[in-house]
Amino acid sequence: MDEKIKTLAEPFRIKMVEPIRMTTRAYREEALLQAGYNPFLLVSDDVFIDLLTDSGTGAMSQSQWAGMMMGDESYAGARSWIKLEQVVRELTGMPHVLPTHQGRAAERILYGLLGGTDRIFLSNTHFDTTRANIEFTGATALDLMPEEALDPETWMPFKGNIDLDKLETQLAHYGSERVAAVILTVTNNSSGGQPVSMANARAVRALCDRYGVMMVIDGCRIAENAYFIRMREDGFQDKSYHDIAREMLELGDAFIMSAKKDGMVNMGGLLCMKDKELSVKCINQLIISEGFATYGGLSGRDMEAMAIGLQEVFDPDYLHYRIRSTAYLGEKLREKGIPVIWPIGGHAVYIDAKKLFPAIPVDQYPGQVLVCELYKIGGIRCVEVGSMMFGKYDEQGKLIPASQELVRLAIPRRVYTQSHIDFVLEVFDFILELRDRKSGYRITYEPAFLRHFTARLEPHPGGG
Ligand SMILES: *Cc1c(COP(=O)(O)O)cnc(C)c1O
Repeated sequence: MDEKIKTLAEPFRIKMVEPIRMTTRAYREEALLQAGYNPFLLVSDDVFIDLLTDSGTGAMSQSQWAGMMMGDESYAGARSWIKLEQVVRELTGMPHVLPTHQGRAAERILYGLLGGTDRIFLSNTHFDTTRANIEFTGATALDLMPEEALDPETWMPFKGNIDLDKLETQLAHYGSERVAAVILTVTNNSSGGQPVSMANARAVRALCDRYGVMMVIDGCRIAENAYFIRMREDGFQDKSYHDIAREMLELGDAFIMSAKKDGMVNMGGLLCMKDKELSVKCINQLIISEGFATYGGLSGRDMEAMAIGLQEVFDPDYLHYRIRSTAYLGEKLREKGIPVIWPIGGHAVYIDAKKLFPAIPVDQYPGQVLVCELYKIGGIRCVEVGSMMFGKYDEQGKLIPASQELVRLAIPRRVYTQSHIDFVLEVFDFILELRDRKSGYRITYEPAFLRHFTARLEPHPGGG
């Protein structure tokens, strides 16, 4: 590519199109009301640009679609499974590979076995399904982020790192009798999609060895993380993205992946580990709820596409486009004066809604206000990652807010073009006019776990 040209053109062209539809503002207001002001309850036909998640929303390549035709649907020992297992072993260096229908199935199996009352999990940040699967067993999940990484403004090359001092304190305090595992989430999804350095992962390995605790890598975005390592960490400039990913995964005792992210497929997950005994227990669980050990809830064609996706994701042109196009949105928003988590992470742009709407109280969910306004103005769907998602209640029923009130604009892989993103940027010009809003929403219904998926809200009676 000519280095003088600055426009980041997508490294693909489009062979099949999926129409999307713009509705009227009145239509969207009614749709939002019907959905209880929760975008998870909107129907996708009513969404123009869907930035709800990068999970399973990507476009597959021509090779993956061709691979679908080659899928072997045999119940046991399918060719597609053998291929996937080989690709995953080459990536992870782990001998025991279990296919699952998505990441949380792998989480339920592993953390169901490791968890239980009195058990403690330590992580840079537990992703929401990770935390839910851990807490469901009665165990406790502690997030150990460095204080400086919680400041949305500070530029840090590896803002997703776990705080090693905090980790050592907890390990020393609880020891291997209580600590079930250390989970390194790579990249750190819930904390801005920020990368984790190899040095941090090595140090976690050393601490886990010292205290005799298992190290799990939740590596849904291991390829995106490898891009950041190559760009930002000394000693990796001459290594391939695949080798960097492998080097990190080899540090872990187990690897959990939602293949709906860097697996570049619409459905699928993986659970990998080094320990044979543990793998036997996991396979028993897999067979009870997911399927036999050589398909785990996936069709042969799904496994074929995943095997191809796990190779394509390390293509340097793809990864460059992926990380730079996300940064394009984030950098332009910042230029407009929208407070974004800085630097921009790999798969999403996170907006600091507390700073954007300083007059809206935290217990009226400023992030949800931004989410709803983006939909009303532009038909854009995204998700709150703040007190709606992570808030808890004290004994008096008062909200214990999350540490940050963020909104995530997640970018599906290979789906939207730069003009879609320019449209989103223009919608934010109208958001800026709402900065002195004073009221938000209150919850009218919520379930016990993962409430943000199904909760219903209404505008707070304070105004709106
Ligand atoms: C998406 C995700 C999961 C859960 O995977 P699903 O495929 O959605 O079940 C777990 N951890 C992280 C970091 C994720 O991003």
